[in-house]
Amino acid sequence: MAIQRPKGTQDLLPGTVEQWQYLEETIRTVCREYGYEEIRTPMFEATELFQRGVGQTTDIVKKEMYTFLDKGDRSMTLRPEMTASVCRAYVENKLYGQPQPVKLYYIGSMFRYERPQSGRFRQFHQFGVEVLGADQAVVDAEVISLVWNLYQRLGLRGLEVHVNSVGCPTCRARHREQLQEFLATRQNALCTDCQERFERNPLRILDCKNPSCQAVTVGAPTTLDTLCEDCGTHFERLKTLLEAAGVVYRVNPRLVRGLDYYTKTAFEVMVEEIGAQSAICGGGRYDRLVEEIGGPPTPGIGFAMGIERVLAALQVQHQLPEEKPKLFGLLIALGEKAQTEGFALTSTLRSQGIPVSMDLLSRSLKSQLKAADRQGARFAFIFGEEELERQVILIRDLKLGEQIEVPLVEAIEEINKKYKRGV
Ligand code: ATP
Ligand code: MG
Repeated sequence: MAIQRPKGTQDLLPGTVEQWQYLEETIRTVCREYGYEEIRTPMFEATELFQRGVGQTTDIVKKEMYTFLDKGDRSMTLRPEMTASVCRAYVENKLYGQPQPVKLYYIGSMFRYERPQSGRFRQFHQFGVEVLGADQAVVDAEVISLVWNLYQRLGLRGLEVHVNSVGCPTCRARHREQLQEFLATRQNALCTDCQERFERNPLRILDCKNPSCQAVTVGAPTTLDTLCEDCGTHFERLKTLLEAAGVVYRVNPRLVRGLDYYTKTAFEVMVEEIGAQSAICGGGRYDRLVEEIGGPPTPGIGFAMGIERVLAALQVQHQLPEEKPKLFGLLIALGEKAQTEGFALTSTLRSQGIPVSMDLLSRSLKSQLKAADRQGARFAFIFGEEELERQVILIRDLKLGEQIEVPLVEAIEEINKKYKRGV
C-alpha cells in the first residue's frame, strides 16, 4: 500500500503555494513598514523550554506536544509555538544588550497533537511578532495596529478585534480570590475540565466554550473589575491609541487566552465566516516570561496568527490571487541538434532573467504548441531542423497569432525587447 502523509498535515501543491507566497510577501512588506526584523529559530527545543515558557497548566503542554527522546536521551519537543523560542534566543544571544526594544517577526511551522478538523492541523503555520524590552501601552497599540493594517492590506472583512486586560500578578491574585468565591457554590455545574481549573487556574473558566460553564459565569467578576491603578491606566492608554490609529475593536472582559504567562493586554481577532475555528490571531503582553526562562526581567508583547485560517478567510471572501503565474515563453526545439542549440539559447535567456521553458519530452511541434497554450505562454520560440540550417528562429505570439522570423544572432535581443516591454 502506498504510504500516506501523517494525519493533520498537508501537501501544498503548485496553485496553492502561490497563495501562500502572496500572503507571506504581504506579511513581509507590512513588517518592513513597521520596522520589524525576521528571526528564525530551531524547529525543536529542549522540552523544558515549553514547560516553563508556555506553562504546565496549558492545553499545549498538558496534551498537545510532540515530545521525544533523542539518541542522547534528552527530551526534545517540536515547537508548538514561537514565543518561548524567541525569548530563549533573546536571552541566549544577549539581544538585551542591543538598543531596545527589539522588534522581531517569524513565519514558520508549528506542531501540536490535536484532533484534526477544518482549520485545525497537527503541523500548521504561524506568522507572529514579538517586541521585547518595552512596557508601555504604545507598544501594545503598535502590535495590534500592525495586525489591523495587514488585514486591511489583504482586503479581509468582517473582523472582530477583542481586547482585554488580565492585569498583573497583584490584580490577578485579587481576581482569583473573588472569582473562586463567586464560583464556590456553583462548582457542580461546571464541566469536568473547569472543575479541575477551579483550583489551578480559575481564570480560564471565564473563556470555556461549554454552554453550562458560560451560564455559570454570567455576572462573575472579570479581570477588568480588579485591575490595579497601573494596569488600569495602561488599558485606558491602549484604548485611546487604538482609536487614534482607527482600529475598530471591542472590549471583551471574558477574553483570557490560553497561555499562563500573559499580563495586562490580551487580544484576539475573529472572522465568523470560517466556521468553528474562527480565531485567526491571538496575542498579549508577557512581562514575566523572559525572567521565567532565566533571562533578565524584560517586558514583552506579541501575537501569533494562523496562516491556514487567514488563507481560508481570504478564500471565502474571494481575496486571493486565483491564477498561477503564466509562462512567458516556451522554446520548441525539434531534433537533437536543434535541442542542443536551443538549450544554449534557453540558458542564456534565463541568465538574463527571462523565464523560458523548454520541452523535456521531445514531443512533436503540435503537442508542444498545445503545452504552451495550456501553460498560458505568450510566446513560442520555434526552432526546427530547417530553421537551424538557415540560422533563424520563429517567434510566434500565441495571443495575437502572429509570427516573425529573426536571425538566430538577433534572437536574444529581440526576445529581451519583448520581455522588457511586457509583451
Ligand atoms: P484555538 O483556541 O483555536 O486552539 P489557540 O488559543 O490554541 O487557538 P494560539 O496558541 O493562540 O491558538 O495560536 C494563535 C493562532 O494560531 C490561533 O488563533 C489560530 O489561528 C492558529 N492555530 C492554533 N492552533 C492551530 C492548529 N492546530 N491548526 C491551525 N491553526 C492553529
Ligand atoms: Mg489550541
